[in-house]
Amino acid sequence: MLHVDRIADLRAACERARAAGRRVGVVPTMGFLHEGHRSLIRAARRDTDFVVVTIFVNPLQFGANEDLDRYPRDLAGDLAQCEAEGVDCVFSPSAAEMYPRPPATTVHVADLTRDLCGAARPTHFDGVTTVVTKLFAIAGSCSAYFGRKDAQQLAVVARMVDDLNLPVEVVGCPIVREADGLAMSSRNAYLSPGDRAAAPTLFSSLWAAVKLIVDGERDAARVVAMIRAVAGTETRLALEYAEVRDAHDLTPVTTLDGSVLLAVAARVGGTRLIDNVHLQIDGATVEADLGTRRDANDAPAPA
Ligand code: AMP
Repeated sequence: MLHVDRIADLRAACERARAAGRRVGVVPTMGFLHEGHRSLIRAARRDTDFVVVTIFVNPLQFGANEDLDRYPRDLAGDLAQCEAEGVDCVFSPSAAEMYPRPPATTVHVADLTRDLCGAARPTHFDGVTTVVTKLFAIAGSCSAYFGRKDAQQLAVVARMVDDLNLPVEVVGCPIVREADGLAMSSRNAYLSPGDRAAAPTLFSSLWAAVKLIVDGERDAARVVAMIRAVAGTETRLALEYAEVRDAHDLTPVTTLDGSVLLAVAARVGGTRLIDNVHLQIDGATVEADLGTRRDANDAPAPA
């Protein structure tokens, strides 16, 4: 496995791979890898011939009072996991390599970035789209793998690639969950034992909403009320938002129909967690994408 930390070296490696007729697959991450990341790597491994994992805790996407300094890092462990997954190349640049000076040029995706996580994190998505554009410019033509856990990020990146005609195929991958339903996240490492026990209530609230919808509810306000009621049973959990949105353009939905997203964010202790369920609704038929469990092939259920 190749491990590079210079932009020129990643660019050359991807160019060599394409010149040899290999398809390049890129998995952008901030490291501290877990099964969620590994599922993206496996998808890239399945579809492409030269799999690149980028590991970069991008300062630009953290707000002034956020967790940049204490974000968990374990490069040695990440490299071992990448090796085990048959990754071809890991790119772990320094902040100075990526931003030798503060960028005068940033990428902003309008509208899609305003609400949901953008409301509490107003500079976050500009940081994401700027660094992802840089990674795409370095890697060149490729398929890029993103988790549906960050559903808004996936929608924003897909829109940016479409708007700017970037030579990238954006591939969304299912949410990977712990056995009790909690969506895997590097930030779960922050949770105290008590917070960790409380955190799956976020998924339970989505699950209760899905059951309501399967039973015929189509009114978004009542679905949101169900999410709030279940989340409210856990005193350690403070809901930041609970929303029903069109899954493609993230606009608010009042009556559930077609492709919709139930999206939530909450604070548990000091840790901000997000989760969502994608639903495909066609008349009385409801298909819910609850994701997969890290340790089983069956669909997840609340503990
Ligand atoms: P991060 O390292 O948190 O920036 O995440 C890197 C990529 O992994 C993003 O595309 C995330 O959406 C994805 N990811 C993180 N957690 C999960 C999860 N539990 N299931 C699926 N994908 C995930």
